[in-house]
Amino acid sequence: MTGMATGKVLGLRIDVDTHDGMKSGVPVLLDVFRESGVKGTFYLSMGPDNSGKAIFNVLRRPGFLGKMRRTGAARVYGLRTLLSGTLLPARMIAVALPDIARRIVAEGHEAGVHAWDHRRWQDKLPRLSDNEVASQLGRARRAFIEIFKAPPRTFAAPAWFGDERSLQIEEWYELEYASDCRGSEPFLPVIGGKALATPQVPATLPTLDEALGDTHTEARAFFDSMLDAATSAAWPVLTVHAELEGGPYAADLRWFLERARERGTRPVPLGELLKARRATGNPLPQRAMGYGAVPGRHGTVFMPQG
Ligand SMILES: [Zn+2]
Repeated sequence: MTGMATGKVLGLRIDVDTHDGMKSGVPVLLDVFRESGVKGTFYLSMGPDNSGKAIFNVLRRPGFLGKMRRTGAARVYGLRTLLSGTLLPARMIAVALPDIARRIVAEGHEAGVHAWDHRRWQDKLPRLSDNEVASQLGRARRAFIEIFKAPPRTFAAPAWFGDERSLQIEEWYELEYASDCRGSEPFLPVIGGKALATPQVPATLPTLDEALGDTHTEARAFFDSMLDAATSAAWPVLTVHAELEGGPYAADLRWFLERARERGTRPVPLGELLKARRATGNPLPQRAMGYGAVPGRHGTVFMPQG
């Protein structure tokens, strides 16, 4: 009999934001996950790596320099990434590394679309024209199909920053689900008084970079607190970054996955968490969307209201 896996599920989401994260971080994570017997959902940035443009935010965003220092961004991202799209040409991310992208799916993980141009979306979404919102999503989707020969079944907006336009376009793509926001449980977003058919599976737990800028000074202490948080939340989803947990914090992630297994917590792709939620037989709640702050993260993120 199948489907009798015991223990609690933990949705595991991996965001890939940069060329170096795709090239070096993803293979490290795949090795860690294989050793730990864990599967997750990888969200890939497809197009240009304009991370270097973040440097110019130092001038515009109070506190950014402090955050860069606290998270050791120069060490994590490397000089090439920090200059990408500014003093050096932007390198493509998944588009330039299709073999690594295909390895994700070949090893039994789920893959979805994170972005075409992560940086541009994250910095400019409210000011992008409707045409550009559609073209950012459409180019990413076409690039995904080019690599995988199949349409993506899930999207995750960069920096948990979406709007009604991006939700509507995802609805037209007939996705299985999306993960565009922070929240506490899977739900159906309501726009214009009408519930969409595309469920949201929100990230529920804080990320390492948020914690290091705010609540924790050590990665190990953060992951230790996530063991309890994953147990107490109803439908927990943890987000890791190829650039961080696939880089200098890989040993901390491995430590977390070992402890999670000892506790009977089973990390799964987000699609599997949604299936487990649907199997309870309770309909998904419907929620209007809005924006709110998350400790340790600059600006606001997309989240359900009420
Ligand atoms: Zn991202």
